[in-house]
Amino acid sequence: MTCTKTMRYQIVRPLDDDWEVFRYILNQISYETWNCLNRCAQYLWEADNFKKIYYSKFGIKFNVKDVEGVADDAYINRNLKKEFQKMNGDSVETITREVKVKMKKNKEDFMLGKASFLSFKKGHPILFRGSQVKINKSNDNNYIVTVRLLRKEYAEELYNGITVKTKNKKEEKVHKRNINDMNIRFYIKANDKYNKVILERVLNKEYKIGGSRIFMKGNKIFFDLVYSFEQKKDEKLDKNRIMGIDIGYNIPAAVAINDMPYKKWFIGDRKEIEDFRTKIEVRKKQLQKWSVWAGDGRVGHGIKTRIKPVLNIGEKINNFKNLKNHVWSREIINIALKNKCGTIQMEKLEGIIPEEYSFLKNWSFYDLQQKIEYKAREHGIDVVYIDPAYTSARCSKCGHIHKSYEKKDWRPEQGQFICQVCGYKENADINAARNIATPNIEKIIKEQLEKQEREQRNQKYIS
Ligand SMILES: [Zn+2]
Repeated sequence: MTCTKTMRYQIVRPLDDDWEVFRYILNQISYETWNCLNRCAQYLWEADNFKKIYYSKFGIKFNVKDVEGVADDAYINRNLKKEFQKMNGDSVETITREVKVKMKKNKEDFMLGKASFLSFKKGHPILFRGSQVKINKSNDNNYIVTVRLLRKEYAEELYNGITVKTKNKKEEKVHKRNINDMNIRFYIKANDKYNKVILERVLNKEYKIGGSRIFMKGNKIFFDLVYSFEQKKDEKLDKNRIMGIDIGYNIPAAVAINDMPYKKWFIGDRKEIEDFRTKIEVRKKQLQKWSVWAGDGRVGHGIKTRIKPVLNIGEKINNFKNLKNHVWSREIINIALKNKCGTIQMEKLEGIIPEEYSFLKNWSFYDLQQKIEYKAREHGIDVVYIDPAYTSARCSKCGHIHKSYEKKDWRPEQGQFICQVCGYKENADINAARNIATPNIEKIIKEQLEKQEREQRNQKYIS
């Protein structure tokens, strides 16, 4: 099932134009949109009448093929494009579609005398289709929206400068764009998690952009992003089946399920990130060398141009990490759904990165968790965070806690966990994941620690 939703973003500032020119363009297109909508309604009404007359005259239903180029959509679009020459042709077609949908609803009400003839109000939002919109991220993690809004000829006109008489008609004002481009570009405000996630999913191609709109309200300008996605059928999830996820530096995630003792999953490979970073770092050094060696035209154009390729590398690494976290989190959620896990338990991650893994410091474990959480909630899976204390030192089989292990780097070389009491052997991350998947694990650990302390005291007393 395809699900379509809208999210509103405020436009913070234009990228290529100054505010005055930007507003001027939007006002022009908004005005044209309004007129085009009403003109289109008129065309469709006429086409309808034409069909009625045709039927009464020839006794057969009008067929577009019989009278090509009359009263069909192509005919209407062609005429509208001739009349409205500022907005992009794709916008015109979007308008026709919009009016057709509205017309269908309006027609019945009109016949019943419930509504007047379809008309649109001034200040109507600017319409465009999904293919006219592109979203990307700037180096400083802001979101930039590009909309192919203008007709080529109008874009050129604006680039050359359009002279406008001001209200008192005494002065003249020239609106001139800095670029000769059919696109307008602007930054949008995405300050909470939820509206950021939507943009990330658009970037990640999980969400498809649909016909969106821009509208002005007072001094503010908004961008309504319409996005769609395939919603999976709700599977029956068992809230008592808990998936435990150990997020770590050996493997991005180790996964276990509380009542499936023989199953385990390793998600992703941290080496991919390391390899990518090494590759990029080599390239970065090369670029720096080249720019020092001059001859590539970069030297002498100021520090900014010399820094540019390096910045792009940082962006590349971030994009790669982001992509990987998306892939891994999706993999995890698919496992949860397949096994009908209604609950996911994870550790509260805070300051768990040891010195020797400092290359990962920028790497956000937290980001991976966030992505898992969002995807889980989308499917109705509960997410519970637990205290990470002793989850690595507890034997998931017999429950013994290896307190001395916790103090130093207890992980044996191959990342194996070996219980000193029952001899249970397991990959250390999977052992932790099994503990994390255990219901009421915090309480169990607390009680176990008390029990072990009691036993230790008794032993001392006996000896
Ligand atoms: Zn054990």
